[in-house]
Amino acid sequence: MNREVGFRSRRVRERLIEKLQEKGISNPEVLDAIRTIPRHEFVDEALGHQAYDDTALPIGQEQTISQPFIVALMTEALLRGTPPQRVLEIGTGSGYQTAVLAKLVPQVYTVERIKSLIHRARDRFAEMGILNVEMKLDDGHLGWEEKAPFDAIIVTAAPSGVPKQLFNQLAIGGRMVVPVGPDRQDQQLLELVRTEDGFEQNDLGTVRFVPMRAGAR
Ligand code: SAH
Repeated sequence: MNREVGFRSRRVRERLIEKLQEKGISNPEVLDAIRTIPRHEFVDEALGHQAYDDTALPIGQEQTISQPFIVALMTEALLRGTPPQRVLEIGTGSGYQTAVLAKLVPQVYTVERIKSLIHRARDRFAEMGILNVEMKLDDGHLGWEEKAPFDAIIVTAAPSGVPKQLFNQLAIGGRMVVPVGPDRQDQQLLELVRTEDGFEQNDLGTVRFVPMRAGAR
């Protein structure tokens, strides 16, 4: 069998898209971004054959690349309402979610606390010609003050509560999607919309992310 007919094939990716649709993802732009971003480039070669399964996979440093359904669900929520121009992501990890966002919005800022993951993701963006992403090594609890306010903020590690400093970097009317909950347990995926005097909240279900940790290294 021709190697190209394996995990890189259109059919394998199309099957993932069908699965996401069955699970309720309907935004055609989100589905198209997931169809076109090569997820196998964001995992180790040895895991390439699983790259289009709807599962999270290890990316080293005890971290994981999120399940495609969760990436789709969070991205769809983030894009509801006025299309965001400037998006902040906390937890770059493999850079897969970042790449999906970079296809859908004009400018993405992403913060990761582990240096080796930042470097690897940066190389991937360069290889793929992704130019609308700025990266920073830091503790995401602090957000990215110099670049605020953001139209949308997506958090892909789980804090125990909504980080206040991060929330304050959201524009009025801006949207945050964040899994909130205690370490190593299920979390609630929350969609928050900042209002003049607080926020509106929508619960998107139960998820399991790696914990959001303090500090950077
Ligand atoms: N979006 C990623 C998911 C990565 S897993 C992907 O698509 O691959 C969560 C990531 O959040 C890990 O890389 C972890 O190092 C990072 N993280 C955890 N706590 C953080 C913090 N306080 N600030 C920034 N990144 C953090």
